[in-house]
Amino acid sequence: MPERKGAFIILSGPSGVGKSTVLNAAIRSLDKVWFSVSATTRKPRPGEEDGREYYFVSEERFLEMIREGALLEYAEYAGNHYGTPKAPVLDHVREGYVVVADVDVQGKLQISQRYEGGVSVFIAPPSMEELEHRLRSRGTETEEAIQKRLRAAEGELRYKDGYDYVVVNDTVESAAKALLDIINEAVYQPNEEE
Ligand code: 5GP
Repeated sequence: MPERKGAFIILSGPSGVGKSTVLNAAIRSLDKVWFSVSATTRKPRPGEEDGREYYFVSEERFLEMIREGALLEYAEYAGNHYGTPKAPVLDHVREGYVVVADVDVQGKLQISQRYEGGVSVFIAPPSMEELEHRLRSRGTETEEAIQKRLRAAEGELRYKDGYDYVVVNDTVESAAKALLDIINEAVYQPNEEE
C-alpha cells in the first residue's frame, strides 16, 4: 500500500440532508481525521458548544477575521455568516490528516479558486420531499427557518454538478461507504509534487 498523505475534503449538502451522520459513519475506521471548525455569527443550537461545532463569534469579530485574511472562504447562509479559518486547515493537511470542511456551495466555489488539490463532495437528498421531512423531524428550527433552509436547498442543488462527486444520502450505510471510498482514493493517490 503506498504511503498515505493528507487530504482536504470539501463537503456540502443542504441543511438537514444528514451530512454529519454520513460523515461520522464514513470516517469511523480512519485514524488521522480532523474536522475544520468554522466561525459563525449564528446563535448556538441547544447542545452545541463553542469551539466544537463552531466558533460562535460576533458580527464584529467575523468582519475582523475577513480583514485579517484569516479565512479560507466565507459566505452568508440563511441570514448568518460562516467561514473556514485558514491556518488550521493547511497545517493539518501538511501533517497528513484527512481534513474535512463542511461548507456551503459559495464556500466550495471560493476554496476551488484558492486551493488546488481539495476533493469536493456534495451530499444530496433522495428528493426535496424527503429533505423537508428530515428537516422537520430534527425539530430544532422554527417554521420560518425551515422555509429559508428549503429555499436555500433548492438553490444549492443546482450547483451539485460542479462537485467532484455527488453522493445521494439514500441510506446512511450506502452513502457512508461511497464517501469513505472517495476519501481513501484522495488519501492514497500519488502526490503530484512527488
Ligand atoms: P448550520 O447553520 O445548519 O450549521 O449550517 C448552515 C449551512 O452553513 C450549511 O449548509 C453548512 O454547510 C454551511 N457552513 C457551515 N460552516 C461553513 C463555513 O465555514 N463556510 C461556509 N461557506 N459555509 C458553512
